Amino acid sequence: MADGCAVQLTAPNGVTFPQPTGLFIGGQWVKSSLGKTITSIDPSTEKPIVAVQAGSVKDIDDAVSAARRALQDPSWRDLPETWDNGKPYSVSLNEDMGEVAGTLRYYAGFADKVFGQVIETTADKFAYTIREPIGVCGQIIPWNYPLAMAAWKLGPALACGNTVVLKPAEQTPLSILYFANLVTQAGFPPGVVNIVNGFGAEAGKALASHEDVDKIAFTGSTATAKDIMRMAASNLKNITLETGGKSPLVVFDDAELENAVEWAHAGIMSNQGQICTATSRILVQAGIFDQFMEAFKKQVRNVSTVGDPFDSNTFQGPQVSKAQLDRIKDFISVGKAEGANLEMGGQPQATAGGKGYFIQPTVFTGVNPQMRIFQEEVFGPFVTISKFESEEEAVALCNGTQYGLGSAVFTTNLTKAHRVARRIEAGMVWINSSNDSDWRIPFGGVKQSGIGRELGEAGLEAYSTVKAIHVNMRSKL
Ligand code: ADP
Repeated sequence: MADGCAVQLTAPNGVTFPQPTGLFIGGQWVKSSLGKTITSIDPSTEKPIVAVQAGSVKDIDDAVSAARRALQDPSWRDLPETWDNGKPYSVSLNEDMGEVAGTLRYYAGFADKVFGQVIETTADKFAYTIREPIGVCGQIIPWNYPLAMAAWKLGPALACGNTVVLKPAEQTPLSILYFANLVTQAGFPPGVVNIVNGFGAEAGKALASHEDVDKIAFTGSTATAKDIMRMAASNLKNITLETGGKSPLVVFDDAELENAVEWAHAGIMSNQGQICTATSRILVQAGIFDQFMEAFKKQVRNVSTVGDPFDSNTFQGPQVSKAQLDRIKDFISVGKAEGANLEMGGQPQATAGGKGYFIQPTVFTGVNPQMRIFQEEVFGPFVTISKFESEEEAVALCNGTQYGLGSAVFTTNLTKAHRVARRIEAGMVWINSSNDSDWRIPFGGVKQSGIGRELGEAGLEAYSTVKAIHVNMRSKL
């Protein structure tokens, strides 16, 4: 299975390419030990694309052993600059690939800059710290940005000298397998990066509870994160969790309206609303509310074209799966039953073939903070827009959920912007923008939106551990 059991696929845009379908363990392509597979579905047509191998508990165990061996292999342990070889895929950049390449390049630059400190104490003693790799890192990623999420996790883990077993989401197993071939081409020793597709309840669970895994990094739902935390307790694994959100976007009366509308639309409607930091609760001050509503609805009508993802005019493709589509439909029913006003959308989007998981962009107003549609993450092109009177009220609304991931504030008043940014309980605040994350800037949440940070230098702290070395300068006790 040296070529990843590659099958030739032709994408709807006519591009034919070899798609690996195996498990990437110890630098080799192998089949699932139990012969299980995952069928990847095209969400536009509901037709199967290809079946890929699904890892079992034993396959995860093999991958962890390969990662453990690679960790002890001097060709990896003593390599001074791990990622500086350059990335062959950078020739075919599009928006997501730009992020992947940018993140990996950023962390490649850090590979020889993971420093400790010298700590002065008394004349008799000095101490220093070194940052060491944590060891074998399990990484469980979601389906909404399959390659970017892999890059966010692989970049800092490898820059710090760890080895990795990465489990992609079962909905999106394809692109990361293609990436595995590039890992080999880039010259990584076998076993440093292992990629094992599989179902969460089997492969994900086996990885999170494995006794020889030193760290688990997870991005996904808050409910699954709680399970992972429990499993990680078995051997006290280091953990990083990036989970759900219900991120608020506050528009004050003095905001630049057009700018606020464009960012508010992009913040919730991009990527089919399937973004953990989607600004899914828009809060607008009373004096500008009617104007905002009119402009926002116009923006949705003009920009949110729903349709074939391979059509260059499409802004919003299908949701990733039937389960996600059904979840959004359920929340639409909940919103109506709770008495909120359905301003726009609320129906599946009819398409030419009558197939696919398409939904209209959906806007609710008349929402109160107790409603489920104000409190719970929907993960779709679904937004609530609420009116507030004062800054106090805006901050209380922002902080009134269990989440604390992203947030956004629109105002032309500089001091108000910074004051409110400090008062919002969130890992990230965008002032006069929304969701414009950057790999140089830490990303993560507070409350039930996660533990720890990814990206930026904080991402390196999440993948290294501090060793303190005490040096006695006295000749006798
Ligand atoms: P979603 O509900 O959005 O699909 P999940 O949190 O369930 O998000 O999935 C995110 C990732 O977590 C996926 O890779 C999935 O396979 C994995 N996963 C799901 N359930 C478990 C579990 N019990 N243990 C470990 N991993 C899991």
